[in-house]
Amino acid sequence: MAYQEEKREAIAVVRAAAALCQVIREEMVTPDGLEKSDRSPVTVADFGSQALICKHLFERFGNPIVGEEDASDLQENADLLVSVQKYLRGARLDGSAQDVCEWIDRGNGKVSSRYWTLDPIDGTKGFLRSDQYAVALALVEDGSIKVAVLACPALPLNGGGVPGTLMVAVKGQGAEMMSLDADSGETVTVDTSGDASSHRFVESVESSHGNQTLQSEVAKAVSIDAPSLRMDSQAKYAAVARGDAVLYLRLPSVDRPPYAEKIWDHAAGALLVEEAGGIVTDMRGKPLDFASSDRMRDNEGVVVSNGAIHHDVLDALSRLA
Ligand code: AMP
Ligand code: MG
Repeated sequence: MAYQEEKREAIAVVRAAAALCQVIREEMVTPDGLEKSDRSPVTVADFGSQALICKHLFERFGNPIVGEEDASDLQENADLLVSVQKYLRGARLDGSAQDVCEWIDRGNGKVSSRYWTLDPIDGTKGFLRSDQYAVALALVEDGSIKVAVLACPALPLNGGGVPGTLMVAVKGQGAEMMSLDADSGETVTVDTSGDASSHRFVESVESSHGNQTLQSEVAKAVSIDAPSLRMDSQAKYAAVARGDAVLYLRLPSVDRPPYAEKIWDHAAGALLVEEAGGIVTDMRGKPLDFASSDRMRDNEGVVVSNGAIHHDVLDALSRLA
């Protein structure tokens, strides 16, 4: 089977990064952290996660990594850098300040014929409010996503229970879900039960990351009457892939110039949903562009569905927007 080595390595590094993020969240995020608008916990976790993943991935495969973070901000903040070093040491990665910055900057790669894309912490606001966040890694070849690993440390495996879900997909090999520390998982598929009364849709917690008015109009147009599930991060893709929701809408906010979505916010989630039987396009039905740059400038919004309702959703969008 293709991509087994990439899959194994990606799982190992994402797991290690998720564990690092959880330690930082437990030790650094205080209940009043948000009120004090202290973003240092998420900053430390973001840089630590990127350093750890990029170091291992680059040494193992040598392909460019297109990551969200860049060490230049960290170089100006000695306290934060010391803190990142400390937590990395706890994860058995001992490096000088310069080493750590170099590992982070291995994530400054460019989109090419074979690259990895990484969001070291997706859903930073969720991380700070002790809610959902994700570590998202994907391998892209010639614009096609081949391997996806998404850790959602705060997402319970099945509805309730202990938080910590890992989702993995390889192109053509299906999508699986396991607990963060398990060796193997179960196959997941989207919900195509067809019973609209049980259908839910997901959207961001942050209203500025979409157009919630239009999102609820579109959901109603396809007979989804229940209120949305609001989640931070690509945990929304996980929700569609495993059938908690049939639809994830991320329609462009009213920002001008229009916001161009970033590849690392979608690559891992998109393959998971497709391999679980769903469909991912932009709001006009165009495939998401992972071949051109780190921004999806030719796409408008993102529509993620169980497949069965996709045509109706696009049809509603052509009438409503
Ligand atoms: P979510 O957790 O789904 O709300 O998405 C978090 C991501 O939204 C962040 O990683 C940002 O890259 C991205 N983001 C920031 N501003 C916007 C915006 N105006 N529209 C859509 N996404 C945005
Ligand atoms: Mg993100």
